[in-house]
Amino acid sequence: MEAKVFGLNDVVEMKKQHPCGTNAWKIIRMGADIRIKCEGCGHSVMIPRNEFTKKMKKVLVKAES
Ligand SMILES: [Zn+2]
Repeated sequence: MEAKVFGLNDVVEMKKQHPCGTNAWKIIRMGADIRIKCEGCGHSVMIPRNEFTKKMKKVLVKAES
């Protein structure tokens, strides 16, 4: 299994899509908790980092550093 590398402003795909039908989330805050924002409806959620790592499927768009 490949390592999950992600960073601020990356757009990621999660294992479960948001109820609005979109499965693209932008990372808007990195820390002990990760805050992601749904690209479809703008809803944002905060997830502990270890849980995020488990639930994240892949990076769709890598942010420019
Ligand atoms: Zn949504």
